[in-house]
This record gives sequence, C-alpha cells and structure tokens, in this order.
Amino acid sequence: MNSNKLTAAFCLALAISLLATGLLYAWGFWGHKRINRMAVFTLPSELMGFYKANIDFIEEHAVDPDKRRYASKNEAPRHYIDVDHYGDYPFDSLPMYWKDAVAKYTEDTLMAYGIVPWHVNRALGWLTDAFRKKDYERILQVSADLGHYIGDAHVPLHCTKNYNGQLTNQHGIHGFWESRIPELNGDNYDYFIGKAEVIEKPQEKIWQVVKESFAAKDSVLDFERELNKRFPSDKKYAFEQRGAQTMRVYSKEYAKEYDKMLNGMVERRMRQSIIAVGSFWVTAWYNAGQPNLKGIEKVVMSEEMKKQLEEEDKMWRTGKIENAHGHSDE
Ligand SMILES: [Zn+2]
Repeated sequence: MNSNKLTAAFCLALAISLLATGLLYAWGFWGHKRINRMAVFTLPSELMGFYKANIDFIEEHAVDPDKRRYASKNEAPRHYIDVDHYGDYPFDSLPMYWKDAVAKYTEDTLMAYGIVPWHVNRALGWLTDAFRKKDYERILQVSADLGHYIGDAHVPLHCTKNYNGQLTNQHGIHGFWESRIPELNGDNYDYFIGKAEVIEKPQEKIWQVVKESFAAKDSVLDFERELNKRFPSDKKYAFEQRGAQTMRVYSKEYAKEYDKMLNGMVERRMRQSIIAVGSFWVTAWYNAGQPNLKGIEKVVMSEEMKKQLEEEDKMWRTGKIENAHGHSDE
C-alpha cells in the first residue's frame, strides 16, 4: 500500500471508530440535555423556582450516567433492558419489582441483560430521600441522573437485544434513531408539553414506558430496512466535520426520509420523556412530604461533589469502558 492509500485507510478506520463511539449515548448528549432542561418547565410552582435556578446543572449533568460508564462496570446495565431475552413478549412473566426479579432470575442475569425499569424506581427512592433531607446538592444530582435513565427507557432500541441492529445487519441504527435524527430535527420539535403530575404507581409507570418502547422497536428496525432497500446506497452516508475530525454519518436526505416513515415517533418519544421526567421529580417531592423549596437559589456544590463529577468527566475523556457487554460496546 502506498502512503496515500494508507492515509485513506487510516482515516476511514478513524471515522468508523468515531462513528462507533458516537453510538454509545442514548438520545445523544444533545437529546438528554434537552429532555432534562425542558422537564423543568413542566414543574408546579412549588418546584419550578428551585429547578429553574439550577437549570444549567440539570441540563449539563443530564449526560453524567453515560460518562460514568467509564468509571464503573455496574453503570451500563442501568441504561437498558433486553426485554426479548426473556421471551417474545415476556411482560406477564417479568417481575415488576427488583426483589422478585432477583429471586426469579438472579442478580447476575438481570445485570447482564439490563435493569433500567428497576433502576429508575431505585433512583426515585434516592431522590425522595434527598428531598426528605433537603439535601439540595443531592436533589440536583439525582434529578439529573434520573432524567437520563427515564429518557433511555423511552428509546425503543434500549429495550431489545437487537439494540444496534446487529442481528439484522443494520449496524449503526441505534445512534441514527436517538442521536442523528434529534440533532437534525430536534430544534423544530414542539416542546409545549403540559404539566408534570404525581405518579401513583411509579414502578408500574416505568414498565409501561418500557412496554411502549418495546412495541415500537419493530417499526424502528423494519422501516430502516425498507428504506435501505430502496434508497440509493451512495447517498445513504455523508461525511461531516466535527471539530478537527471527519465523521461518517447518515446523510440528511436519508435521515429525513426515515423520520418521515417513523411519522413523528422520535419527537413523540422525546416529548413523553420530558413529561415523564418532570412527573418523576414531582412524585419524589410529593412522597417526601412536599418540603418547601421556595427561595432556594442556585446551589453551590461542595468540594467533594465537584471532585467526584470532575473525576467522572476525566475518566470519560481519557478512559475505556470497563465492561464490554451489551449496549455499551458497539
Ligand atoms: Zn444512557
């Protein structure tokens, strides 16, 4: 190989590896941040002031759980569940509560195939606890995290073992649906969503979300397969500059056509994520006895918290993911 060819091969390999890296983040960083930010505006007045004063934190740290995958091997399973590992439609036999699920399948199995619905409920408990203690720093941190996991549960490809189309030769569809499309179109979505409400049965509610995601996954996969068949293959991808790097991405034309076929699904799931996030926050506050947060301004984070967040960020920037299973490694 001459040096030009070598350079070209290297660039291609780099582009592909960058593309793969881009697939790691549900909703992409853009989507998660937007969901958390918009959720603040669904809140009742008792909470709105506090969350608004700290909206930058809530938005910026919407992506911490994805970064944390680099620091902890227990993190990745919190973002998904391979529902179809347990059967074609196993919702009647999958235990709703964590304890029962562990008893039935063992914790190792659950961790291997993802725990998002149970983890959302656990994080809700942490948030309730933080409200009860009026631990403002913790309220913000767990709210941001919880928003992330709830967002993930709304993504159809976070609820199936064919999470990146790898079983149907559609490699890359994960990031296409949840990052590329919202990044291209998300500014035009309708974010008037209504008001957050107290959820009576949160564990049941998040399972409902997972069920909806699971029900949508066939359309997500089938439509792309259909489009791929009829779309000119040389127009499917494009190269875009991201900072100093060139990345191979699905072309705008291809994305537009796919989005049209999905008939607003991405926007719909994003809107449902936002209202669900607001509602889980309200639920935690309500269950904690509705502590008065009026007049609480922007929270100054403790040195300890700052250090923890910085460390996670650093590991994400420099690190490798510890466990290669499942949705964390494509
Ligand atoms: Zn995630």
